[in-house]
Amino acid sequence: MSTAIVCFRRDLRLEDNPALDAALRAHERIACVYIHAPEEQAPWAPGAASRWWLHHSLVALDGQLRRRGGALTLLRGPTLAALKCAIDACGAQAVYWNRLYEPAILARDAAIKRELRDRGLDVRSFNANLLCEPCQAQTGQGGPYKVFTPFWRNVRAQLVPSPPIPAPARIDAARLETAVAPESLRLLPRLPWDAGFHAVWQPGEAGAQSRLRRFLDDCIDSYRTGRDRPDRDDTSMLSPHLHFGEIGPRQIFWRIHERAHDTAAREAGEHYVRELGWREFSHHLLYHFPQTPQSNLNPQFDRFPWAPENGQAIRRWQRGSTGIPIVDAGMRQLWSTGWMHNRVRMIVASFLTKNLRQHWRIGARWFWDTLVDADLANNTQGWQWTAGCGADAAPYFRVFNPVTQGERFDPDGTYVRRWVPELRSAPAALIQQPWRDESLLRATGYPAPIVDLRQSREAALAAYRKSRDG
Ligand SMILES: Cc1cc2nc3c(=O)[nH]c(=O)nc-3n(C[C@H](O)[C@H](O)[C@H](O)COP(=O)(O)OP(=O)(O)OC[C@H]3O[C@@H](n4cnc5c(N)ncnc54)[C@H](O)[C@@H]3O)c2cc1C
Repeated sequence: MSTAIVCFRRDLRLEDNPALDAALRAHERIACVYIHAPEEQAPWAPGAASRWWLHHSLVALDGQLRRRGGALTLLRGPTLAALKCAIDACGAQAVYWNRLYEPAILARDAAIKRELRDRGLDVRSFNANLLCEPCQAQTGQGGPYKVFTPFWRNVRAQLVPSPPIPAPARIDAARLETAVAPESLRLLPRLPWDAGFHAVWQPGEAGAQSRLRRFLDDCIDSYRTGRDRPDRDDTSMLSPHLHFGEIGPRQIFWRIHERAHDTAAREAGEHYVRELGWREFSHHLLYHFPQTPQSNLNPQFDRFPWAPENGQAIRRWQRGSTGIPIVDAGMRQLWSTGWMHNRVRMIVASFLTKNLRQHWRIGARWFWDTLVDADLANNTQGWQWTAGCGADAAPYFRVFNPVTQGERFDPDGTYVRRWVPELRSAPAALIQQPWRDESLLRATGYPAPIVDLRQSREAALAAYRKSRDG
């Protein structure tokens, strides 16, 4: 009887899972495994919020597999050793997985593929996570893109919607005896800081599908204008589901295509698909410039005089007590829910890297630990873009003014009031700059700003000019 192992990684779903589908077609029995080997992703082993998500997503996937006659066997790494044991235990002739694109994982997977093939196994990998893999788009000169618009024009022209591969109805499972319990992976926090997460998220494929349904039913038509408004819930909040592969971009693309019955629906869908394009672009950049989680993509920025690391200011930024309401609202939303609205991510990142002139890597690390959607490609690109040293970056002189950003994108202060309850009763005219009324600060206990926005902006621009002019 022919047996295969399907190695789940960040493709924690049954629908539109090409590795699972191919294994089921070619083999009579399959063993579904997840190998826990965070050290193999060093220095980017998953952070605390991601671990929380992973625990619940693994439990959800196991439940789905069991309903079809299978099960998810959890194994401890190292990955190659765990795979070899599993192969011996179930007599597998083949191993299947879906590809990931982070530098450390690419190197590991290539080595595993070589070794298993040398042992005579059939090893197959597939694309489940991207609309277009990093090598499928090249500039006219045959190199990687560094600018989003031509990248997206190229990729978009290649995209053809196709119906997702259905989830299997039944799985004939090859059982492995060596499984570990999810609790023993110790992914959940010891201190209960995750209380707010449960109210917002449902990790797993069912949660991803219900998020997508809600978005398509209620939000996509207003997405174009609403996506910049943190006071509204107009974005999809699919990012953690996409990161863990509980839903794939091809499934989303197909569902959007299915509802595009008229021009308005087509245009609304296209705006959303273009945002997915930024995710594709981030993966393209990380693949072709694997040093970027540590180094500036634009080497001219290497001379930039960052301020000395200021532990106290960084802590106040992390805790949401900078005295700048929209920054504090964002940082508290992040801490409570593991997620932050994209517009606010840009504002808090600009504040850290420009007003406080702290290195973007400090912010990227904090996000890495606290975001449920922490993703090496997207996070690196987001921080480098905002700091001004990345591809297609916001020019350095574009320092987000958190007051005008707040007034524009949170005009009634609804978002600030939700996350900074001290300011709940502040008048709308002061909600984004309460320091203009000292009695308001005294009455609410809300702190004065840790920096003067205008002076720190000027200082950042002067530092930039100095580094640029040598
Ligand atoms: C400093 C900074 C750090 C970031 N870190 C991450 C991160 O670690 N993980 C992450 O998934 N996103 C990151 N982003 C991108 C973006 O903020 C989130 O993807 C988005 O807020 C997720 O919410 P959503 O699913 O409701 O987005 P929607 O607006 O509904 O967009 C749909 C999907 O498109 C993708 N997407 C949208 N905008 C971007 C973007 N600018 N770059 C890349 N992909 C995008 C995401 O997968 C998202 O789920 C970061 C942005 C910044 C400025």
